[in-house]
Parts: sequence; structure tokens; C-alpha cells
Amino acid sequence: MKEIILCKLGEIVLKGLNRRTFEQKLLSNLRHSLHGLGEYRVWYSQSTVYIEGAGEDADMDAAFEAAGKVFGIIKLSRAAACEKDKDAITALAKDYLHGELLDAKSFKVETKRSDKRFPMTSIELSQYVGGELSEAFPHLKVEMHEPELVVHLEVRESAAYVHASPVDGAGGMPVGSNGVAVSLLSGGIDSPVSSYMIAKRGVRLVPVHFFSFPYTSEAAKEKVIELARLLTAYCGKMPLFVVPFTHIQEQIRDKCPEEYFTLVMRRFMMRIAERLAAEQGAKAIVTGENLGQVASQTMEAMASTQAVLSLPVLQPLIGLDKEEIVRLARRIGTFETSILPYEDCCTVFTPRHPKTHPKPEEVARAESALDVGALVEEALAGAERIMVGR
Ligand code: ATP
Ligand code: MG
Repeated sequence: MKEIILCKLGEIVLKGLNRRTFEQKLLSNLRHSLHGLGEYRVWYSQSTVYIEGAGEDADMDAAFEAAGKVFGIIKLSRAAACEKDKDAITALAKDYLHGELLDAKSFKVETKRSDKRFPMTSIELSQYVGGELSEAFPHLKVEMHEPELVVHLEVRESAAYVHASPVDGAGGMPVGSNGVAVSLLSGGIDSPVSSYMIAKRGVRLVPVHFFSFPYTSEAAKEKVIELARLLTAYCGKMPLFVVPFTHIQEQIRDKCPEEYFTLVMRRFMMRIAERLAAEQGAKAIVTGENLGQVASQTMEAMASTQAVLSLPVLQPLIGLDKEEIVRLARRIGTFETSILPYEDCCTVFTPRHPKTHPKPEEVARAESALDVGALVEEALAGAERIMVGR
């Protein structure tokens, strides 16, 4: 039996004139995500993307899983193909959907016929196959409005297809269709999720991690590389920038009032991220900040942090509860890695009494003993670029 995967596209179908570009991006992202999983033929026709194994090594389970992570696809189903003949289609439906037909109590058949030379209309074919299935599975009730099982038939140019039970795809828009952003990636639970959410809106990400060796360990860096790698299942290949942050943090510790340590440190992160953004053609900075979660996530603290940059800061988790973030982290597969117990630079030199409602000018005064420009240049010069993903 020849199997195929059918992918339904989401919002991109609405995109009018840009539609072609969106489709091309999606196809190219999909081909990348299948890379290394065997040979496939991937094509687009009538709002549906088709994936067909094209060699011995094609692994349809792996391909289905990979396609389920490609943004821009809202529904996927596995289908089987046969010749365009009503009895061949019936036999295939009985065989391919045997388990589903046994499990369901009610069903209906829906046919799409794009090959207009096929001798039956859509309705005639649905009625014929529906009748045959009712006879073969007498427990099944035909239900037009809310059936448990919809048996989909498609009569296309090249073949007829039978499929059922589509599953939800990743949704969103194809990565690369909505610009580039620098995403601040710590080793925590939140920032992999915020990265995911912005990538889902079609944004290509350039992750950056601030690394305070030896206060934070080599294992902490490996953990961030692994988180970035997990994200590439959705985002595709990404350059991860690891920026040395130790000297900046030591200077802050030595020259700034303690209650401002975290705020000054976050301003450095933003300045460096903005410089990387300019270099990478990125038009926004993404963080995993969440209103009220920690001292640096009050409105005043965020204002003082964002006062040093002109790019917009995207904070997709701002209104979520921790529980909701954890649920997302589990779903996208980053949670287990995020909870590995390594320190982040944010937990090095944390003030005992952090300022929670600072004025931006106070924070500016607190950092006035530092040579901000030189420290930023030094960190950028030491940045390591690591390509992650296949
Ligand atoms: P996370 O779980 O993502 O670490 P958090 O709740 O611990 O977030 P903070 O430590 O205050 O919050 O950090 C807020 C945001 O700043 C993070 O979500 C992340 O985007 C960014 N950030 C924090 N530490 C780093 C780091 N070492 N490198 C890069 N970005 C960081
Ligand atoms: Mg953190």
C-alpha cells in the first residue's frame, strides 16, 4: 500500500498576493525538516502539501512527526493511494481504515474530486463507498452532521486517496515569512517557549546566550545549545551566539550599588542583543519575561531595561501563568532539558534586595562608573557563533 502525507495550510492561504512567497517558504522549510530522514517527493496543489516517500529509506512515521512541527501547517493526515476506480477505493478504505471503522459508532464519507474525468460525481462516489462500508461494518450509523469518523476520499490527477483522522499541525506561519529577531535564550523554562512562540509567527530567530564562565559551567552552556537544537525542529537551522558575560558581571559587582545589579546586567544584555540584531538584520528582541514573576519583571524594571534600546522587545509570555508556560514547554519538548540543574548568569551576584520599582535615570546613575561602550565591544568581540540544527 502506498502511503502519503497530506498537509493543510493555515493562515498563509489568506495572504493574497504574498501567497506564493509564503508557499515557497513553507515548502522549503518542510524539505529542510525532512532532510536526513530519507528521500521524499514534496509538492503543493490546491491548498494542500503532499509528502510521498521516494525511496527505500523513506520513513513515513518520522516524516509525519517532522511535518507536524513545521509552522504554517494546521492539519496533517496520513493517506493511502490507489487507482481511480470505485471498487479499488472501497477496498482501500476497508483495509486502510479498518481499525477506525471498527472503533467508530457513526461515520460519513466525504469526497473531493479534482479529476473531472472521473465517471462519478463526488456525491455519487461518497454514496457508493458509504453504502459498501455500511454493509461491511453493520454497527456503523451514517451520520451527516457530527459523525465520529469522516472517511475522506480524494480523486486527483495522479491517483485516488483515502484518509481519516487529521491531527493538528504546529499552526502559525512559515519561518522566514515575517522577518528576523534576536531571541534571548537562557537555560530556563521560559525563554525556549518565548522563542517558540515568536518563531511560530513566521519569524526567523537568532538566539543569543550570555555566558558567565566559570560562575556558570560548561554544562550550562551545553544545556543552552541543546535547548536551541530542540527548537530547530520547529525553527530550522539557527546560528546561536554565546556572548562572554563574566567581565561585565564582575565590573557590575565591583562598581555598581548592589540593589541595581540585575537591572544594570539586563541593560547590558539588551545593548548587546541590539548590536547583534543590527548585524543580523533582526528587527526585534525576544525575551521570556513575564509580568511580576521576578523582581526584574515589574513594569518599572522593564522600562528601565528597555530604555537603552530602540528596537521593540517582544515578550510573548508576558500574560501567561507559570503553569501555562510549563504546559507549553512540555508540549514543545524543552521542559525536561530546561529543568536540568545548572546555574544561569542571572543567579550569579544576585542582590539581596533588588530594586523593583526603579526610575530609568536611577539605573543610569547606578551604571555611571562603568565604561559601557568598551564592555559591550569587548563582549561582542568574544562572541562565539555556533550553528545548531541540521
Ligand atoms: P527563563 O526561564 O527564560 O530563564 P526567567 O523567568 O528565569 O526566564 P529572568 O532570569 O529574569 O527570567 O530572565 C528574563 C529573560 O531574560 C529570559 O526569559 C531570557 O529571555 C533572558 N535571559 C536571562 N538570562 C539570560 C542569559 N543568560 N542569556 C540570554 N538571555 C537571558
Ligand atoms: Mg532565567
